[in-house]
Amino acid sequence: MSIEITGVSKRFGDFVALEDVSVSIPTGQLTALLGPSGGGKSTLLRIIAGLEYADTGTVGIEGLDATALPARKRGVGFVFQHYAAFKHLSVRRNVAFGLEIRKRPKDEVRRRVDELLALVHLEQFADRLPSQLSGGQRQRMALARALAVEPKVLLLDEPFGALDAKVRKELREWLRRLHDEVHVTTVFVTHDQEEALEVADEIVVINEGRVEQIGTPDQLYDEPANDFVMRFLGPVTQLGDQLVRPHDVALAPGADDPDAVAGRVARVVRVGFEVRVEVSTGEQVVLATMTRTEFLRLGLDVGATVSVRVVPGAPVVAAGPGSSSVRPGLEVRAG
Ligand code: ATP
Repeated sequence: MSIEITGVSKRFGDFVALEDVSVSIPTGQLTALLGPSGGGKSTLLRIIAGLEYADTGTVGIEGLDATALPARKRGVGFVFQHYAAFKHLSVRRNVAFGLEIRKRPKDEVRRRVDELLALVHLEQFADRLPSQLSGGQRQRMALARALAVEPKVLLLDEPFGALDAKVRKELREWLRRLHDEVHVTTVFVTHDQEEALEVADEIVVINEGRVEQIGTPDQLYDEPANDFVMRFLGPVTQLGDQLVRPHDVALAPGADDPDAVAGRVARVVRVGFEVRVEVSTGEQVVLATMTRTEFLRLGLDVGATVSVRVVPGAPVVAAGPGSSSVRPGLEVRAG
């Protein structure tokens, strides 16, 4: 089902949680709502779900006005960060729950639950209690339970938020594959830019109740609409009066290039396969990141004179008043 959010605003008392938000989500798309904490992502998700109502604006689902429709009539499935399973019921019974309360025939329930457990790779855990699962397995059970009633829209609020980095990464790859199999229109909330960039077809960047930009991961990364999106999607460094991404800063030995800024290598930090080179231009410290191979090819060392420039075509944002340059040893990373 497609979702059409038009001019939605929401206040809590005097506090404006959402202001004039419009987002159009086509059928079958995997969409991330991305932004810093408190920006309004969950509020928007809850308005789509019907757990919260907009003060103004409309929510359309599959071309019909659902603005005033209660949650149970919207055909949506949810998964929240701290998922509450029925502790005394097995994994199988937890997944079957929605089908049982809808009084579906027993064999149909069994068949459907078997399919779902296979889909989320929990077949061998069917008879365990939720307390006997790992965090990642429990989140997969939550997704199977949400999918059991064949929702037309799946809404996930930081579904992997409470898990450690490695499990999160596995689960997001798995979510992408699952989505490619079942094609249900899915909206998930995250404050993790990597998660959104890796998983989503389209990303809606939300900050302070407003939409900053909507686009594919490539569009957001390569053509950020503004300084906020540029900074939120990855580290930035400042060269002259521009903000640029450190991996788009090119260095060359010597100071012969008249179109480049001359500087001196101030510090070199190796992090795995990446090398971070801090170059002092006299006025600023500019951060350049590159592969180890590239670094060795350049033959640079601390104290070396270098020419610094931005690779042609790289996204660049003017550093406004109040924007700070990257200080030695520091990366500016929002979130
Ligand atoms: P997070 O990533 O921290 O969950 P978020 O982007 O999802 O943040 P929301 O949960 O949508 O943000 O909250 C947006 C703002 O609205 C926050 O400042 C929050 O405190 C406020 N807010 C949310 N729900 C209520 C409520 N029921 N009453 C009052 N204020 C609320």
